[in-house]
Amino acid sequence: MNPKTFKIKSFGCQMNVYDGERMTELLNARGMVAAEGEDCDLVVLNTCHIREKAAEKAYSDVGRLKREDGSRPLIALAGCVAQAEGAEAKRRSKLIDIVVGPQAYHRLPEMIAQASLGGRPVDTDMPALSKFDALPKRRRAAPSAFLTVQEGCDKFCTYCVVPYTRGAEISRPWSDILAEAQLLVDGGAREIVLLGQNVNAWRNEGCSLADLIGKLAKIDALERLRYTTSHPTDMTDELISAHGEVEKLMPYLHLPVQAGSNRILKVMNRSHTVETYLAIIEKMRAARPDIAISGDFIVGFPGETEEDFEATLQIVDAVHYSSAYSFKYSARPGTPAAAMEDQIPRDIMDDRLQRLQLKISQHQLSFNRSKVGTDTQILIERKGRRNGQMIGRSPWLQSVHVETDAAAGDMVDVTLVAAGPNSMTGAARAREAA
Ligand code: SAM
Ligand code: SF4
Repeated sequence: MNPKTFKIKSFGCQMNVYDGERMTELLNARGMVAAEGEDCDLVVLNTCHIREKAAEKAYSDVGRLKREDGSRPLIALAGCVAQAEGAEAKRRSKLIDIVVGPQAYHRLPEMIAQASLGGRPVDTDMPALSKFDALPKRRRAAPSAFLTVQEGCDKFCTYCVVPYTRGAEISRPWSDILAEAQLLVDGGAREIVLLGQNVNAWRNEGCSLADLIGKLAKIDALERLRYTTSHPTDMTDELISAHGEVEKLMPYLHLPVQAGSNRILKVMNRSHTVETYLAIIEKMRAARPDIAISGDFIVGFPGETEEDFEATLQIVDAVHYSSAYSFKYSARPGTPAAAMEDQIPRDIMDDRLQRLQLKISQHQLSFNRSKVGTDTQILIERKGRRNGQMIGRSPWLQSVHVETDAAAGDMVDVTLVAAGPNSMTGAARAREAA
C-alpha cells in the first residue's frame, strides 16, 4: 500500500531540522500529507549520531512505533545513524523498511515506492550531484528560516563523527543559495539562518561567506541574517568586519571552543589555541561591541585533568558568553579519541558538567540583565502561553515575551524590561512616525 500520511521526527542539530523540512516538502510534492495525530502510514526517524548511544536510541524508537494490534507504519531510518549503520540497520531491526543517509534523502519517494512493494532499500551514497538540485522549490517559510549552505567537515576533531557521517566539506553555489533565500522570503521568512557544519568555511567561485552575506542582505523584505556553526580556524577578518558593516547581520556569533586547555585542544585536533580563540573574540568585539558570543564545550575528554577543566571555567569567564552548549564527552565508535587511554569516569564528568553549566548560566543571566532598559526590535515567531502574549527574538537571539497584537513574522519595537536566565520580557513601544 502506498503511504498517504507521514510524520518526520528530527533529532539533533539545526541541519537535521532543515533536512526534515526539505523531506516534508518532498513528500508533500508527491501528494503525501503530514499527519496531524500520532497515527500515520510512514514515519521517518531523522537521527543524530553525535553523542550517547545514538544507534541504540534509534532502534528503541523504531521498536516503539509498533501499534497495540501488532501493525506498524512504514519506517524509514534517516540522518547520521542511518549513514553510520547502513545495511546493518536492516539486520539489527526487522521493522526498518528504508535506510537513507543525509546526502541521499532526495531519493526518498522512490525508496518509499520500493518499500511499499515489500523491498527494503538502503541508500547511504554521497553522490557528487547535489541532492539540493533534486528537491522541490521552497514555498512556505517560518519567520526565521534555516538555509543549509555548507555540509560536511574536513577538520577531523578526534572526538567527532561528523566527517564520517556527513562526508567532506562542500559548499552550495551562491546562485542557488540566493534563489532559495528569495523563495524563503517570498514564502514569509524575515530572518534567514545560514547553516553549515563549518558554515564559515563556505566558499564558491571566489566568493566568501562575508560576500554571500553582502549579497543576501540586498534582498529587500529580508530583515535579518545569521549563520551557524563557525569554526575558529575559518573566522576571517573579512567576516569579522561584516559584523560592523552589514546592518542586517545580527550581533550574535556561535563559536565553539570546546575546551580552555591548549593541551586538550591539541589532542582534540582543534587547530586553534585559547589565545587565537580569544584574539578572534577581541576583534569581533572591536567590530561589533554589543555582539553576543555563544559556544560549545565538551567536558571529560580523555585525559582531562582538574587543572585542564579549570582552564575551561576560566575561558567562560574571559569570554563572558551570552549562552553556551555543554556536553559530556561521548566516545564515538571509529573516532581516534574513543581509543585513547585515560577515559574519564562518569561521576567526574557529571560533576564537571554541573560546575560548567552553573558558570555558563551565571554569565547568561548577567548578559540578559545587561540588556534591561534597551530599546530594540524583536522578530515575532509564535504565540506565548498567555492570552495576547507573543514570543519573539532579540538581535542577540534572546527569547522575548511581549504583550502585543502583532503576528508571527512582524518586527516589533520593544523596550527590554526584565531578564530571566533563559528569556526576557519586553514592553511594546509605539512605532515612531517616519
Ligand atoms: N563544527 C562545529 C565546531 O566544530 O565547532 C560543531 C559541530 S558538532 C555537530 C556540535 C557540537 O557537538 C560540537 O561543537 C561539540 O561540542 C559536540 N560534540 C561533537 N562530538 C562530540 C562527542 N563525541 N562528545 C560530546 N560532544 C560532542
Ligand atoms: Fe566535528 Fe570538529 Fe568538524 Fe566540528 S569541526 S563538525 S566538531 S570534526
